[in-house]
Amino acid sequence: MSEDGPSLRHVLGLPDGITACLFDLDGVLTKTAEVHAAAWKEMFDDVLAAHAGDADVDSRPFDAIGDYLEYVDGKPRYDGVRDFLASRGVHPPEASDDLPAGTETIQSLGDLKNDNVQRIIVTDGVEPYEGSVRYLQAAQDAGLGIAVVSSSANAAAVLEAAGLSKFIQERVDGAVASAENIKGKPAPDMFWEAAKRLGATPETSAVFEDALSGVKSGASGGFVTVIGVDRGGQPDALRAAGATQVVDDLADLLDA
Ligand SMILES: [Mg+2]
Repeated sequence: MSEDGPSLRHVLGLPDGITACLFDLDGVLTKTAEVHAAAWKEMFDDVLAAHAGDADVDSRPFDAIGDYLEYVDGKPRYDGVRDFLASRGVHPPEASDDLPAGTETIQSLGDLKNDNVQRIIVTDGVEPYEGSVRYLQAAQDAGLGIAVVSSSANAAAVLEAAGLSKFIQERVDGAVASAENIKGKPAPDMFWEAAKRLGATPETSAVFEDALSGVKSGASGGFVTVIGVDRGGQPDALRAAGATQVVDDLADLLDA
C-alpha cells in the first residue's frame, strides 16, 4: 500500500481534495463538554434558586443535558447566559459601570461560570476521546492541516491538559476571536479564519462539530464537508442543522 497523501486521506474517511481538518474542541476532541455542563449548572442553579417564587420565573434546576444542548452548548459564553436565563424568565442587565458593585449581570455570571471551568480543569484534569487521539494522529500522518476552532477562552489550557497541543497547527478560540474581533459561532467566521490560516477554503476543509450551533456555522459558511459528532443522542438534529455525515466517534471514520 502506498504511503502518499491520497491513500491516507481515504483512510480518514474524508472526500478527495480535503487538505485541512477544523476541529471543535469541547465534545469533539476532549470530554470537556461534561466539565462545561457542570460549571454552567453550578452557576445557573444558584441564580434560579435566588429567583424561586418570582412571578413568571421557571426556577427548576438547569438540566445539564437538555438545557445544555439547547441553550448554551457551543455558543459564546455571554450569549449562553442570556439565552438560557431568558428561557426561564430571568433577565439580568448586561455589564455596566453604573450598576452597584456586586450586581449580578450577564457578564458577571458568565465570568463566574468561567471560573468554575478553570477550577474543574485544574482539580479534575481533562480527558481526550481516545478515538479522537487516533484520528488526530492519522490526520497528522496524512499531512493534513489541523486547527482547533472553539468558542472557549480556555482552549490552549485544555489542549495542554489533554496532551493534544502537539497535533494542533492553528488555534482560533474565544480569546483569539475577541482579540481579533472575529464573530463567534454560529457565525461561520471562526471556521473561515482557521481555514485561511491553513491555506485552505470551505471546499477543501472538513469541519468536525458536536454542537448544533457549530454544525450550523459550518453549513452556513459553505463548508462542503461537515462531520457531526453525536455525543448526545441527537443524530437527526445534527443532520437537520447541516451535518453531511454523523458519527458517534471520530474513530468510526478510520478505515470506514
Ligand atoms: Mg463542542
